[in-house]
Amino acid sequence: MNTDAISLHALTKTYGPKRPAADDTTVTALDAVSLAFPRGGFTAVMGPSGSGKSTLLQCAAGLDRPTSGSVTLGGTELTGLSETRLTRLRRERIGFVFQAFNLLPSLTAEQNVALPLRLAGRRVPRARVREALRQVGLGERARHRPTELSGGQQQRVALARALITRPEVLFADEPTGALDSQTGREVLTLLRSLVDREGLTVLMVTHDPVAASYADRVVFLVDGRVNGDLTGASVDAIATHLTTLEASPC
Ligand code: ADP
Ligand code: MG
Repeated sequence: MNTDAISLHALTKTYGPKRPAADDTTVTALDAVSLAFPRGGFTAVMGPSGSGKSTLLQCAAGLDRPTSGSVTLGGTELTGLSETRLTRLRRERIGFVFQAFNLLPSLTAEQNVALPLRLAGRRVPRARVREALRQVGLGERARHRPTELSGGQQQRVALARALITRPEVLFADEPTGALDSQTGREVLTLLRSLVDREGLTVLMVTHDPVAASYADRVVFLVDGRVNGDLTGASVDAIATHLTTLEASPC
């Protein structure tokens, strides 16, 4: 049995040009990236600004289409899917959290968490929503609206919302980017325990070596290409590797 939750093969994404004549404006955001992410693993993706981290996550999560190459999620090749099937796959098999929590302000925590099931036209058992909130330590806050919650609590609601469908992979783009370091650590500890206790697979983009040190493995991107990876690395080792990348000429 294939133990990879998700794998990328020669993934390439180019942007532009808007007009065919302006071919010098083409940007290669991802350049033939091949990577595999094991089930139950926690991987961080790092690299300088503009190195393709968000593009990698968006393509891997089926939020964006690669120019060429393939993404395989638990045996399903995403690139061949129609928009309708891709949308369904995203709803049912993928979770996503962003730097901005993206909660709907008029809905309570439990209504926000229930949303993905509602959108999928599925029944929303209240016990399941409450369980998802308990899982992220917010059992007592189910009736609160986002403005009544701290940043860390809002991100935990977003996490519960991403996990309500029991996705195969959780994608997180700078999930602690809007949080102070203490609150950020609480969210990272929570992610780590979901990986360890529930066997969740996490793929997280971060610029913060402390955040990356919670992962099992750190993959580095430079100019849309993989530029080394570290397993079980300390904060210092990650920071040092990052410095060498940022010092290197483009
Ligand atoms: P990162 O997340 O590592 O900062 P991105 O994946 O956002 O990098 O971007 C990689 C490259 O692709 C950058 O040069 C960026 O300017 C370019 N890019 C990203 N999105 C678009 C877009 N929608 N249109 C044109 N260029 C884009
Ligand atoms: Mg980015």
